[in-house]
Amino acid sequence: MYKLLTLALLALAMTTESASPVAIVIHGGAGRMDKAKLTPARQKEYHTTLEASLRAGHAILKKGGSSLDAVQAAIIVMEDSPLFNAGKGAVFTSEGRNELDASLMDGRTLEAGAVGGVTTLKNPILAARAVMDHTPHVLLTNQGAEAFAKNMRLELVKPNYFHTDHRWRQLQEWKKKKAEGKNTFLDGKHADYFGTVGCVALDAKGNIAAGTSTGGLTGKQFGRIGDSPIIGAGTYANNKTCGISCTGHGEYFIRYAVAHDISAHMEYKNSTLAEAARDIVQIKLKKAKGSGGIIGLDAKGNIVMEFNTPAMNRGSIDKNGKLTTGIFK
Ligand code: ASP
Repeated sequence: MYKLLTLALLALAMTTESASPVAIVIHGGAGRMDKAKLTPARQKEYHTTLEASLRAGHAILKKGGSSLDAVQAAIIVMEDSPLFNAGKGAVFTSEGRNELDASLMDGRTLEAGAVGGVTTLKNPILAARAVMDHTPHVLLTNQGAEAFAKNMRLELVKPNYFHTDHRWRQLQEWKKKKAEGKNTFLDGKHADYFGTVGCVALDAKGNIAAGTSTGGLTGKQFGRIGDSPIIGAGTYANNKTCGISCTGHGEYFIRYAVAHDISAHMEYKNSTLAEAARDIVQIKLKKAKGSGGIIGLDAKGNIVMEFNTPAMNRGSIDKNGKLTTGIFK
């Protein structure tokens, strides 16, 4: 009887241990998406790619891999897809070039890596990882980042690899609007569509990681760097609180240090992740006319996907293994 009880307790301890939750959440950009332009076939493409991204990250978590590797894997799927404004399919600057930004942060150590304004790196998220792993720095930009990535033998591509016709058309529309003196992203209204990608994951060891990758905003000025590679603005992770990846009008996310602010809200005010995210995105940012959204998760695997725009590409596999993807509110 005694022996049986000990065995039962042992079994219980083992299941509790192996049951540490793993979870993953992604976004593929927030903004105003014209439902009429997004045909059912196109919507399906988005859902399929979001699901592929989630599954790539989740497979790593299920095997006991790290949240950093999971975030990286999920983001690569979206960088390689022409659907998203990251890697292939990035938006154009006003001069018709693609300049990419990305970052990654480890919530266990608070180490981070990022690149800004790169034009020839196929997967900027890999360069962000390499900056974190192989330099004493956090952020490398432009030629410095490219030279470093080359040294690290990361895959380089010709700048026209990033070109897609629909992003080129978006730039022409942007130019026309500007010439007519109409709204562009600078007036705080929702841009037609942002499209940046991001991921936050929690691994079986309880470590949180977050990453973000983008082409920035259509028509951005040459040399402009957004929030995505700025730690604390577009990306933040801390095992004590949460991991966050943002998307939206980057200048606001930088000024309001949005990703870190959500973490600080939890740390200093004892708020839940859901409360903190709602307060910052729906009240603080909205009041300032900063449009966009965030995804995040906390150490218990609670997930948030909060946005103040009409749409945000998003998806998650929660701690119970339930997969969901969405585009509109
Ligand atoms: N936040 C990005 C930037 O401003 C754009 C986006 O999220 O779509 O560069």
